[in-house]
Parts: sequence; structure tokens; C-alpha cells
Amino acid sequence: MNVQTDFTKDLSLPSGIFIDGRYTASAAGQMFETTNPFNGDTIARLPSCDASDVDAAVASARAAFKSGVWSGLHPTERKVVLCKLADLIMENVDELATMEALDAGKPITDCREIDVPETANCIRWHGEAQDKLYDQIAPSSPDAVAMIVREPVGVVAAVLPWNFPLLMMAWKIGPALATGNSVVVKPAEQTSLTALRLAELAVEAGVPPGVLNVITGFGPEVGEPLGRHMDVNALTFTGSTATGRRFLEYAAQSNLKEVCLEMGGKSAAVILSDAADIPRIAQIQSEAIFWNMGENCTANSRIIAHKDVYDEVVNEMTKAAAGWKVGDQMDVDTQNGPLVSDEHYAKVSGLVETGKSQGAKVAHGGEGAGGLLFQPTVFADVTRDMDIFQQEIFGPVVAVTRAETDEEAIELANQTQYGLAATLYTQSISKAHKYARKLEAGTVGVNAYSEGEISTPFGGFKASGFGGRDNGIHAHEQYTELKTIWIDLTA
Ligand code: NAD
Ligand code: MG
Repeated sequence: MNVQTDFTKDLSLPSGIFIDGRYTASAAGQMFETTNPFNGDTIARLPSCDASDVDAAVASARAAFKSGVWSGLHPTERKVVLCKLADLIMENVDELATMEALDAGKPITDCREIDVPETANCIRWHGEAQDKLYDQIAPSSPDAVAMIVREPVGVVAAVLPWNFPLLMMAWKIGPALATGNSVVVKPAEQTSLTALRLAELAVEAGVPPGVLNVITGFGPEVGEPLGRHMDVNALTFTGSTATGRRFLEYAAQSNLKEVCLEMGGKSAAVILSDAADIPRIAQIQSEAIFWNMGENCTANSRIIAHKDVYDEVVNEMTKAAAGWKVGDQMDVDTQNGPLVSDEHYAKVSGLVETGKSQGAKVAHGGEGAGGLLFQPTVFADVTRDMDIFQQEIFGPVVAVTRAETDEEAIELANQTQYGLAATLYTQSISKAHKYARKLEAGTVGVNAYSEGEISTPFGGFKASGFGGRDNGIHAHEQYTELKTIWIDLTA
């Protein structure tokens, strides 16, 4: 059944940028095309912005911030608006999911059941949280009151990736708006449509014009001027480690804005000798690597299996991969759509070829599946020196490595520049505690792949993260400054 026409019927796509609460053209008038990666069709033309548009968006955000229309509200008033925005997102779930699926190649069913609901959930959670938080009074002599308060930083810039376009926007704007900031969003050039529509819904919900602006275009023309802007107080980013490093340079060379980076990963699942039910584990781990085409920063792209369970792990992973349904992302049964772009496909297939040439064994897949589709791929006999063990592939490709002992398995898991997430399988409660502590990762799932929930902080150790965490109340630290107010009572 081809259901594409049902979802796309009556779909109207944005064609401008969003500044001061309305759609507008970019200053220079340049446009770029955004495509459906399944068939290469152009689905929309969007402004290719430059530094003058960045200035306009930042000026709008600054004016809104200074005026107090949002930053000066009672937290409960912001809560009501953000909860209304969450409601509007769910009222428009089919429209948003269709845009997201068409633009990013993400399966429509995932978009409707995960991405859009989680986006609404995130914004609601931060909105709900804000009027339940208290500031602090520090110990002092009776002659003084020492208040420790949190204030919004001011203007926040958010530079986003293409793998979870709506959800990553929510992870940034949820806490940034809840804490009273104004925001300028630069979505990834591959996937800008839903960011624009979300900004429009925000205004409909009651977010005042200028508080949330979205400007489209490319990294060097839009991302860099935001990173270097003298009037941006904080920059939050999700994407590659290489680009993340640049934002630290931009900040150092401009106004020392706060920088928070969520970057790449090479997360491992460690399966110890006493792990129970390998078929179940393989089912979980197939989702941990193949879900969202492997275009997921916490994807468990490595499995380190103890030699006692290694053969069964490879066999069961192979079976799980074979059952994965790859195809048109607009088909409701599709589990994996196309990779996001030609460039990304070339990167993934190139690393797969490198894996073969360096001696890893293809247990399943290893090839494209037509267009930008890629077969779920399982590599066995992967060793620590191979590129597919070290480099982030960001595709549906898992590397399975044998460990002689439990200790070696943990050591191999940590043999990476990254430290975003890890998974550990064992029946021993003491091994679970001991090794969860030894794994160098921001999130460790035990006996299940986990990214935590909206309530738990998310971010990376080592080259996977810098400067703070997304999610949970911990995310609010990114978007607030701590201020001490010392009141002398003797006067
Ligand atoms: P990227 O890091 O280059 O892009 C992310 C964002 O940064 C985009 O909005 C982009 O326009 C912007 N950007 C790019 N170059 C910039 C620059 N010089 N200055 C300022 N902003 C800039 O990622 P990509 O090129 O789309 O993908 C490359 C690799 O990054 C992927 O193959 C994958 O390994 C990794 N990646 C990781 C995540 C994640 O969730 N951690 C997400 C997307 C991509
Ligand atoms: Mg696209």
C-alpha cells in the first residue's frame, strides 16, 4: 500500500525564515533547495541566509528579551504558553510528522509515534517545571542576606543537526524558553522545515514575536556568524565533534559566550559472560543501532561480546538485521528510510568498504539497497585498530568485537575518543554497579539500551560533550547565569 498521498495531501511547506513573529525573506534573497532523500525530489526552496539575516534575528531576539514580554513574565505565565504549544504540536502531529519524514528520510511511523510526541513532551516538561523551582539563600551572619539566584542568559543561539530535527530543537528551546530567554534557531540545512513550522506554532500558542526566531542556511554563512556574534550570550549545538570544536574557537575569538556542545559518539554495548537471553539482547541492540538508520548520536555502533557469548551474539544480530524493513519512509511499515543525503551516504558506504578492506567480516548487509537506502549491516571479527571500531559511521552499521575477559570488554568499550553512552549486560548486581562506574560515558544503560528520559541529564564525556547537559533540570544551567546578591542589613 502506498500511503504517501494521504499524508502529503493539503501539506503546505514554509518558504521563508521566521523573524519577529512572522515569515519573511532573507536580506540577500538567495535560496537553496531541500529535498526528499528517498527520491531526490525538491520539496521546498528556503532562504540561504547570511550574516545580515543573523544580525536581524539576533536584534529581534535582543529587543524581545530587553522588553520583558517573555523574560519578565511570572514563570507560571510562561508555563501556560509552553503547555499550549505542546498541545498545538499534538494537534498538528500528522502535518509535522509528514514534513519531518519527507525532509529527513525518517520513517513516518517513527515521526508520528516518537519524534513529534516527544517534542511536545519535552516542551511541556520544561514549561511545567519552571514554576516549581526555588532559588537559594546561602549561610551568612544575621547582618546579611546572601541570595543565590538564576537569571536567563539573554539571547541563546541553537545550531541543530538533521537526525532529529524537531526533537533536538525541543531539547534546546524547551529549557531556553522556560527559563525566560529569547532564542535564534539555525536548523540543519538538510532539514529546516519543521523548525519553521514549530516557530509559527509557538507564536500561535502565545510566545511573543521575537522570542523565537528561525533562520535557514548553511554552516559557514549562518552557523559561524551566530557563533561569533557579539550579542549572543549562549550557544547550544548538537552535531559533529569537528563542528563543535569550531564553536569553542568562535566563542574564544568573540565575546566568550557560553557554549554547550552535544557531539558524536561511538557507543558500545558490553555483553559480559553471564548476560542472560542473547536473542532478547540482540533484539534490543538491533534497535540501538539500526533505529533511525543509525543516524543517532547514542547509537550502539559497537558490541563488545565476551568470548563465551560472542558466536551467539553474532548469529542473533545477523538474524535481527535480516528482519529489518528498509524502504520508502512514507510507508507506515518502513523501519529504515534513506540516509539523509548523498554526502552522508558516501561517508557511510566508504567506511563500510574500509571495514571490508581492513579485514572485518560482513555477517550481514554491507551494501546499499537502492538510492540512499543502506542495508542494516553487521560486521564481525572487528579489532580495535580498525577504522570501523574508532570512527563514527552514523549509519546502520554495527561492529562486533570479541573480548577474552570481562575486564578487557570494559577496557575495549573505553578505547575511543568519544564518551556519549554505553550499555552493559550482566546478571550480576555487583558487576552491574562496578562496571557501570567504569564505563566512560554520560549515560550507561544496564540490561537495556537507554538514553534516559526527559527527566535525566543527557550529554557526553570526552569528545562527545562540552559545557553542560541537555534534558532534566540540569539543562536549565546552560541557559541561566548564577548571580549572588549580598544584602547588608546593617545600614
Ligand atoms: P555538522 O556538525 O557539520 O552540522 C551540524 C550543524 O552545524 C548544522 O546546522 C550545520 O549547518 C552547522 N555547521 C556546519 N559547519 C559549520 C561551521 N563551520 N560553523 C558553524 N556551523 C556549522 O554535521 P553534518 O556535516 O551534518 O554531519 C557530519 C557528521 O556529524 C555525521 O556524519 C555524524 O557523524 C555527525 N553528526 C552527529 C550528530 C549528533 O547527534 N551528535 C548529528 C548530526 C551529525
Ligand atoms: Mg531534506
